[in-house]
Amino acid sequence: MHTPDSTSSPAMVIVGAGHCGGRAALALRTAGWQAAIHLVGDEPHHPYERPPLSKDLLTGDKTAEACALLSDADLREARITRHVARVTSIDATARSLTLSDGQTLAYQSLLLATGGKVRTLRIPGGDLPEVMTLRNLGDAAALAQRLTPGQRLLVVGGGFIGLEVAASARKLGCEVTVVEGAPRLMGRAVPEPVAERALALHRARGVRVLLGVGPLGITRTANGVRMELADGSSIEADTVLAGIGIEPDLALPQAAGLAVGRGVMVNAHLQSSLPGIFAAGDVAEFPSVLSGQLVRQETWHNAETQAAIAAQNMLEGVNSALAAYTALPWFWSDQYDHQLQVMGEPALAATSVTRTLDDAGGMVIFYLDADNRLVGACGWGETSRVAKELKLARTLVERRISASAEVLADPATKLKGLLSHAR
Ligand code: NAP
Repeated sequence: MHTPDSTSSPAMVIVGAGHCGGRAALALRTAGWQAAIHLVGDEPHHPYERPPLSKDLLTGDKTAEACALLSDADLREARITRHVARVTSIDATARSLTLSDGQTLAYQSLLLATGGKVRTLRIPGGDLPEVMTLRNLGDAAALAQRLTPGQRLLVVGGGFIGLEVAASARKLGCEVTVVEGAPRLMGRAVPEPVAERALALHRARGVRVLLGVGPLGITRTANGVRMELADGSSIEADTVLAGIGIEPDLALPQAAGLAVGRGVMVNAHLQSSLPGIFAAGDVAEFPSVLSGQLVRQETWHNAETQAAIAAQNMLEGVNSALAAYTALPWFWSDQYDHQLQVMGEPALAATSVTRTLDDAGGMVIFYLDADNRLVGACGWGETSRVAKELKLARTLVERRISASAEVLADPATKLKGLLSHAR
């Protein structure tokens, strides 16, 4: 293995100090890179995991410290230089970039792990201080302060942030209304039958859910705010949370001359269109291992697994060969004592079949291609009752098991027994 000299070698630079960036920085050091590693990002915190932001951090079951991926000591030990700054420009020809604090960094390889910016409500009153978003630790702390018993929370957006916060707020004794413009919840990523069960659960737990109606504007009242809706009705609340998605910020890569689509376009090695520049995590648009189509994944699992592959490939020619990113998509959402999981790509299926897991609404929908091979699954149920079966379902999808719809639906079939069907 050729190990570069630590004084004369150029550095590895990672832009974006979130989950993906933090993991990649550590992976570079673990893989044997001896010279400088710079981790640049404008959040004041060291890299941390975001899933607790909408759940345990709000309910007080977890502290911000417990979400950290890297401590001061970890950064020191791994000799990772952390810059709390923004990157203002990238010179891909000179392999250097400039920071908002005026510094210039030269790089051998550069990773863009810049994630996404939270969407804000672009309606009159959308900028009132009672209207909040949730993307970082500061947002979670500010929202948590307002979620006290009896407070009225109005959530705009029936996606993951909206529904997870709704569940947390109910646990905290708030009155909760969710407003979703589409006719169903979680329309972007979750199959309809599971979204219907989630809707029933939220309603059973006391959340007022309004579907097919969007917000028009927000005004202040004597003791809170009022949101006017497109159907002519209005809702009063103390706090509004907009959970209406994120968008990757593509201005920097675009200005650097990188090919961008819905994200920074990369190949299976997570290489961008310019030499020495990689992208990973929420910002990367990469070829799906199942379909070859370009996809973007805004998930914990994608940040975690792409960080490792990007780090390995940034070291190509130093100590490793290029690796392809072949992980199947996977995400979960915890709402109350229930969990949903989606694995693989249900949209690629020719057929689907539902397997009932218990008598409390637990189920897995399996998605099969034309050759009866699994391309995806979506599971739902009480976490303590369905966790084992969902784990098995995920393994079956990862191994692209071939099985008939009848066999998968049959309660007499043990999912574990199907693992040996891998091709
Ligand atoms: P999301 O899952 O994309 O859901 C956003 C919801 O808001 C969608 O239902 C969307 O409907 C709706 N919406 C979009 N624009 C709107 C507008 N202008 N007015 C009203 N409604 C609008 O995004 P999110 O819930 O905000 O979450 C943000 C990110 O964090 C996502 O990447 C999400 O995957 C991630 N996250 C993941 C988890 C998890 O994996 N458990 C948990 C929390 C957050 P349309 O689809 O019809 O536009």
